[in-house]
Amino acid sequence: MKTIALVAHDGKKAELLAWVKQHADFFQDKQLVATGTTGRLLSEALHKDVLCLASGPLGGDQQIGALIAEQKIDWLVFFWDPLSSQPHDPDVKALIRLAVVWNIPVACNKATADFILTSALVGQDYQRTVPDFSSHNNRLTK
Ligand code: PGA
Repeated sequence: MKTIALVAHDGKKAELLAWVKQHADFFQDKQLVATGTTGRLLSEALHKDVLCLASGPLGGDQQIGALIAEQKIDWLVFFWDPLSSQPHDPDVKALIRLAVVWNIPVACNKATADFILTSALVGQDYQRTVPDFSSHNNRLTK
């Protein structure tokens, strides 16, 4: 688990930052990728470089989705806010969908993030199964 993507909606940013600070040691040797505002706040909180993509409503969720499709993300931490409507709601759904498509561990709340972070698999060289979509890709070939 080397490259972690993190996203938090505005109503969940404080919760994500508190959780990340609580586990600051864990994140020191990980590569972090985040949507713009989340990434800036994470970088300040952890005193660490974070690859900051566009802000979520401006395409950042889609950029993270693209990295997932390119097999460049090992874990997605996505604290989306269930009590606020988002202008980029289709992007939110698309990001969660791509995490499921590509069998990426995804934590949408602190409890799940705690379970994943403390999993015995974290310390191992866990190789997730990358789904074989060749039948999909070949579906219209003769
Ligand atoms: P932000 O985007 O980190 O730029 O606030 C998060 C989001 O709303 O998806």
